[in-house]
Amino acid sequence: MTTLAPTDSVSLRQAARGLACRNCGAAYGLLPIHACAECFGPLEVAYDPAALAAVTREQIQSGPQTLWRYAPFLPVGADPATRVDLGAGLTPLIRADRLAAELGMRRLWVKDDSANPTHSFKDRVVSVALTAAAQFGFDRVACASTGNLANAVAAHAARFGLSSVVFVPADLEAGKVVQTAVYGGTLVAVSGSYDDCNRLCSELAETDEFETTAFVNQNVRPYYAEGSKTLGFEVGEQLGWRLPAQVVVPMASGSLLTKVDKGFRELVAAGLVESSPWRVFGAQASGCSPIATAFEQGRDVVTPVKPATIAKSLSIGNPADGPYALDAVRRTGGSMAHVSDAEIVEGISLLARTTGIFAETAGGVTVAVLRRLLDAGALDPAAETVIYNTGDGLKTLDAVAATARPTFTIAPSLAAVRGIGLIA
Ligand SMILES: *Cc1c(COP(=O)(O)O)cnc(C)c1O
Ligand SMILES: [Zn+2]
Repeated sequence: MTTLAPTDSVSLRQAARGLACRNCGAAYGLLPIHACAECFGPLEVAYDPAALAAVTREQIQSGPQTLWRYAPFLPVGADPATRVDLGAGLTPLIRADRLAAELGMRRLWVKDDSANPTHSFKDRVVSVALTAAAQFGFDRVACASTGNLANAVAAHAARFGLSSVVFVPADLEAGKVVQTAVYGGTLVAVSGSYDDCNRLCSELAETDEFETTAFVNQNVRPYYAEGSKTLGFEVGEQLGWRLPAQVVVPMASGSLLTKVDKGFRELVAAGLVESSPWRVFGAQASGCSPIATAFEQGRDVVTPVKPATIAKSLSIGNPADGPYALDAVRRTGGSMAHVSDAEIVEGISLLARTTGIFAETAGGVTVAVLRRLLDAGALDPAAETVIYNTGDGLKTLDAVAATARPTFTIAPSLAAVRGIGLIA
């Protein structure tokens, strides 16, 4: 019997088999396409279950301290030399006992994905999408973005010498504009919404000039989306190879939520965790809640809205994965809720003062929705719960600038300190 070296073993190879239509099941190769030629349904990467089942916990644990430890579960990047990798992933899972106590919960964790190279979870999807783009031979990368994707695309392109063109709404937060422009790609501010930027990109993709451009959330979207699964995998691993009973996930297009659920399903199918039930909960801002509103009204169809909220990173009025997010939440017995801008600001400050984590507005949405779901009795306060913080508070300072102020402003004298009561 011959023993294979770990790098030769079949289990470390990628298990991706091809693309499959989520509506009709039509099968395609691993190509730079995102829509089914038969029914226009979205395409998703399909894997060989036997190859995934051969992956062991030890193999994953001996991998890099990044999302690429899950390379066998990703469609590209089997060879480390091909990865467009800034070190995204394996972010902290933080036990949040003080937040739990304040909310009357028993066991609560925050998966803090602000701890990524450009301070949001978008580094995961971009690392995978740009690895695919490079493999397909595209000479330029582009995207429409609500902000965080722009940051991540510009940074990854800069490190790997790729040319980038990023389209964002002109009213984006200053922090996100600066954090994109600084990396030196082309940044186009569009006087319109994210949905306008996205439609513009679809039109551009049809032009001769953009024929050899990878649109991160269009022609390579199936690859992009797989990066989000690693937020499910890592939680399973960091809990000691088991699944939480409940997760609360912020939704823009709804993709991340569906992929956390897919990540859990793949961990179970691969035999890496015991099968145990989990419930998925979705969070949106009331100023842009097309998915949560459809859930509330018991509808399958997601009606587009015009966003008006401080949670700009979640401001997708026409969410591509909305119906799939509804499916995942309904199938697992979860729920959805949406919260006002005032509740978002309160959510940011509650998380900050109980965990030491400063979240951007999307994190405020998630914490406020957690509270809302507890109040409504939709979420079990006794069950193990993980909430996802997907972006850093320094990106959206304006949201809290009015409330997060110096407690006192004084002259540099003991008399002044006495005046504010800190000494007698
Ligand atoms: C993009 C984004 C999300 C969710 O995105 P989906 O489109 O639903 O996958 C969540 N939080 C932040 C901070 C984001 O930038
Ligand atoms: Zn189809």
